[in-house]
Amino acid sequence: MSAAREERARAAREADRLAAQGVSGVVLTMVDTAGITRVKTVPVSALPDAVRWGVAMPPVFDLFLADDSVTTGGHTRAPEGDLRLLPDLDRLTPLAAQPGWAWAPADRHDQRGTPYPGCQRLFARRMTERATERGLALRMGFETEWVVGRDTDPSPSPSRTAAGPAYGMARFVELSDYLRDVLDALVAQGVAVQQLHPEYAPGQFEVSVAPADPVGAADLAVLVRETVRAVSARHGLTASFAPVVEAGAVGNGRHLHLSLWQDGRNLCRDGDGQHGMTAVCEAFLAGVLRELPALLALGAPSAASYLRLEPSRWAGAFQCWGPENREAAIRFVAGAPDAGWAANAEIKSFDAAANPYLAVGAVIAAGLAGIDAAATLPPPEVGDPAEVGGHKRLPTSLTEALAHFERSAVLREALGESLFGAVVAVRRAEAARFEGATPQSIVAATRLRY
Ligand code: GLU
Ligand code: MG
Repeated sequence: MSAAREERARAAREADRLAAQGVSGVVLTMVDTAGITRVKTVPVSALPDAVRWGVAMPPVFDLFLADDSVTTGGHTRAPEGDLRLLPDLDRLTPLAAQPGWAWAPADRHDQRGTPYPGCQRLFARRMTERATERGLALRMGFETEWVVGRDTDPSPSPSRTAAGPAYGMARFVELSDYLRDVLDALVAQGVAVQQLHPEYAPGQFEVSVAPADPVGAADLAVLVRETVRAVSARHGLTASFAPVVEAGAVGNGRHLHLSLWQDGRNLCRDGDGQHGMTAVCEAFLAGVLRELPALLALGAPSAASYLRLEPSRWAGAFQCWGPENREAAIRFVAGAPDAGWAANAEIKSFDAAANPYLAVGAVIAAGLAGIDAAATLPPPEVGDPAEVGGHKRLPTSLTEALAHFERSAVLREALGESLFGAVVAVRRAEAARFEGATPQSIVAATRLRY
């Protein structure tokens, strides 16, 4: 049997299995350049066709802004044309908080079945393969933070619920049933939850999940967010994943943890480099650190991101790294001596307005460039860089991050012209949209979009 027919036969079996479980339809997701998850759905009976032919999704989504307006700036592409969303059967998951629905992330191909160079998920896969070609594997995991409220009105100040103390039991008790349902839904979907806890800001919670391969980690970021959103809706709550929910306060991050592996060995430890990391790991992290101002155009892609990325809010506003330093953009975690898997680095500056596929792919590209250049890390930062002084602030606006991005030869080469151009066009338009806007109006416009 040809590979295509085999895949189709597999989809037919999956469809039967889903139907037997009472699933009616499958949601196919893609995340657009602006970081919004967009969907098409098909009835389960149409899954084999979707796997064979894809589901129509025009390329114009690459030029959507977070408010659904469409830009053409810089990167001209005709409004016509079509692409096909191809569901990844390996990730097909019945959705616990949306009974009757299953989910699969999708890649985008053209109508002839050729992979589309502007597909963000395929980009993440390409960069993963680049690492594989060098004998390197990456394990990655996003932490998801969100704030619950009881309102749907995108006013600048949310009507919070669970406003008890930070990390407090009171807040946890108030939403005990809700949090149990979040946990149950994730676990029922096979998500390896590591932790679920109240965060710093009123109404804020966080869930972290076990590391996966880079594309898997990005897929999980989508699944975790949509699961939290769905459980929230069932409890009459709104969940905000936006970088900020209130101007001038701690926001929502979506930190990215990563470790680098070779032949089953974690290169973040048992080496001769700084804090026990190997030279390869150090070079990778040095590459990421160097590229961070440009990476922010992908990892912190909204005007709102820069309201969050402030010093002394654990958001990673300075271009430095440090062991267990929560103010450094890259926090290095050595892990316990007998837990070889645990050593990792955490990129703190990223938030959930980011397209997770672009974020993981670009981080890999920057890290591999660091390895190519045999880059080394500067001395680690100890203490709060805002107080120690002398450290380079990361970009303080989207416009500034975009200027770094446009100058980044590493990211331009890795993304390719199609993706690079789409990112530039969308970021430019997002920056223009909020030019001169007050923090309050930026928050109001973005708080319930992501
Ligand atoms: N909420 C903080 C942020 O904006 C992060 C808090 C933490 O360290 O987990 O990234
Ligand atoms: Mg956190």
